[in-house]
Amino acid sequence: MSGMEDKAHNSTDPIVPTTTPATWLGVMGGGQLGRMFTHEAQAMGYKVAVLEPEQDCPTGHVADRHFLADYSDEVALTEMAGLCAAVTTEFENVAAESLAILARHSFVAPAAACVSVAQDRMVEKRFFTECAKTSTVLPAPHHLIASAADIDNIPADLLPGILKTVRLGYDGKGQARVRSLDEVRQAFADMNGVACVLEKMLPLAYEVSVLVVRGVDGTAAVYPIAENVHRDGILFTTTVPGPNVCGETAKRAQHAALAIIEQLAYVGVLCIEFFVLQDGSLVVNEMAPRPHNSGHYTMDACVTSQFAQQVRAMARMPLGDTRQHSPAVMLNILGDVWFDGDSQQAREPAWDRILALPAAHLHLYGKAQARRARKMGHITFVAATLAEAQQQLAAACDILGIAL
Ligand code: ATP
Ligand code: MG
Repeated sequence: MSGMEDKAHNSTDPIVPTTTPATWLGVMGGGQLGRMFTHEAQAMGYKVAVLEPEQDCPTGHVADRHFLADYSDEVALTEMAGLCAAVTTEFENVAAESLAILARHSFVAPAAACVSVAQDRMVEKRFFTECAKTSTVLPAPHHLIASAADIDNIPADLLPGILKTVRLGYDGKGQARVRSLDEVRQAFADMNGVACVLEKMLPLAYEVSVLVVRGVDGTAAVYPIAENVHRDGILFTTTVPGPNVCGETAKRAQHAALAIIEQLAYVGVLCIEFFVLQDGSLVVNEMAPRPHNSGHYTMDACVTSQFAQQVRAMARMPLGDTRQHSPAVMLNILGDVWFDGDSQQAREPAWDRILALPAAHLHLYGKAQARRARKMGHITFVAATLAEAQQQLAAACDILGIAL
């Protein structure tokens, strides 16, 4: 109803007060994933509360209520859980204890037990190995290095490899490439001796991810497989349909993702990353218990976005259709584009020229400060053909000074 129509009602017309106040949904974490979740939740009529210690944060700018508190603040957690019908998380490192406090007073999705599997690479790999009975997809060969003594027992065929901290790694941080036992020792010492896992360096042909969602009634839905290109450890582009992906690989990865979400009895959105090796085989890398950067394309190219699914799953509503209606390429916008080349010279990117590209959907996260390598936004190019979307991606990269 337009504003004009709203004003035009006759004073004798009956009015029905909406007796039920809007339901509140809560999110742990105030980053861009929380912000996009909030937009979707509010579009469906929910009110959103965020718990985040930073005052100035992407979700805080849009949420209806901001609990300005540490993620483990019991008073704030209890208050938010009391207000909200359900609580979710936008980052995987929220302590299981915090989720347990929330779960005493509210419905928490995904559950603490699921999130904790994704918080520890070793637990995650054991879980994937267990799942392989039905998923048929194994993780990379690996070896736990809990202390320096474990380095002596590394199987020789794991080198060259990648040493990854068991906890708290992201965007390639907490990782080191190693070729010899001496390099493993050095890298382990550089990581201050925290528990690590050494993974064999695999000959990757390309990387993919599969987004899955599962409702409280056990209904699960899977999105089309996405092909991802990383640069300097950070996602650069996601292309769907992926130019390298064959139908057989897509089916296997989707089947594995469904087996994994089922095995976890998970409620919410889950993203699973896979490697496709040069011999065509599939390896499961890691999972994120939340919407994922590689799933941003769903906002503009699918019937139901990953954030709308997150809302539906936690609100215990039916899931939406995952169907993709147009080919899409997503480009991450890092803080680098606010700088002139390699210099310190600041500049404002030419958004007017980006928006002149008809395929471009611009999403900026409202971050006040641009820093190199900081995720500031993304652009999804949606067109009738993938070639057209890719042409406009190339034009945008040219405008923004990003080498393709
Ligand atoms: P993010 O959380 O941003 O997805 P991350 O820091 O958790 O990343 P991984 O996804 O494990 O780390 O690894 C980052 C990238 O390093 C991968 O996307 C892949 O390109 C490369 N990589 C990781 N493990 C291997 C491996 N075993 N063999 C070859 N390449 C690898
Ligand atoms: Mg990863």
